[in-house]
Amino acid sequence: MNQNPLLEIKNLKTYFPIKAGVFKTTVGHIRAVDDISLTIYKGETLGIVGESGCGKTTLCKSIVMLNNPVSGEIQYYSNSESFRIPCINKSDMDKARRKIQYIFQDPQSSLNPVFTVFGSMNDVLRLRGVKKKKERRKIVGDLLEAVNMRRDQLDDYPHEFSGGQRQRIGIARALCVNPELVICDEAVSALDVSIQAQVLQLLKKFKEERNLTYIFVTHNLAVVEYVSDRIAVMYLGKVVELADTDDLFKNMFHPYTKALCSAIPVADINAKKNKIVLTGDVPNPANPPSGCPFHPRCLNCFEKCKTDVPKLRKYKVNGKDYFVACHLAHNQLKEKEIQEDLK
Ligand code: SF4
Repeated sequence: MNQNPLLEIKNLKTYFPIKAGVFKTTVGHIRAVDDISLTIYKGETLGIVGESGCGKTTLCKSIVMLNNPVSGEIQYYSNSESFRIPCINKSDMDKARRKIQYIFQDPQSSLNPVFTVFGSMNDVLRLRGVKKKKERRKIVGDLLEAVNMRRDQLDDYPHEFSGGQRQRIGIARALCVNPELVICDEAVSALDVSIQAQVLQLLKKFKEERNLTYIFVTHNLAVVEYVSDRIAVMYLGKVVELADTDDLFKNMFHPYTKALCSAIPVADINAKKNKIVLTGDVPNPANPPSGCPFHPRCLNCFEKCKTDVPKLRKYKVNGKDYFVACHLAHNQLKEKEIQEDLK
């Protein structure tokens, strides 16, 4: 994997104010993204997983400034120039937005029903500098063919397509500005399983052909295992485990990751699975628990977990970087490292 960073996120916090009373005074904050630091490398697919409400989408929307972070830094290293997001001037922000494209979960609501397929990409292409309408129609037609649709469908409206076709149009629209980073936010969750497979194949094909980098958000671990080079597991606005896909599925040091993975359905009826059932709900992000945010649901909780917040620490597992935020994992990994040193 290429080790050149494309996006560096440092200590990002995105909080939403809770207003109450006649004067709508701020009485607290929902900590949707709580102090996340993450590097996305050129050409990789970073999968982000976690339960609903853990902050996956808010993190992605904060990268493209659809949500405004309260603090932190986002540095984007394009092939030609680098930007700090949010950019100080509008023209830099426009350039950065063109390099980072977003594929939304719901293909129906992400397309404007009054625009044809061509209409939904026409203005973007004109702003990109494609002056002649004939050329713009050719580009949109080529993109439709690239996503396995017919060229003559470019004057059809969104309601004339199935869900899978609409998501393909969403992919074509994201690609029409030649992006470097594509954020796929639950991009296949609303589709049938057979259509999911086709769309995932398409995304893989474009990644290789166009040298794209993906952030792939999903709550489906089987999907994320299939598409991702690395996986970040999120819980209550924080990254709790981050590693190469193979290493993560082999090791799983964080109890939350183990519980998530134990819920993956297995096609073999004879296979024995020890499903870990988590008790209780996800805590309120406006009032997170003391110490480890996972401790009220953790089966391995011990005294230290109730008072000390575990940091996301970097370890070496099989010579590769492995990040975990767990006191128990820290003890295990420290021992493992010492054993490896002694050999
Ligand atoms: Fe469980 Fe403690 Fe690890 Fe948190 S720090 S995940 S409570 S063992």
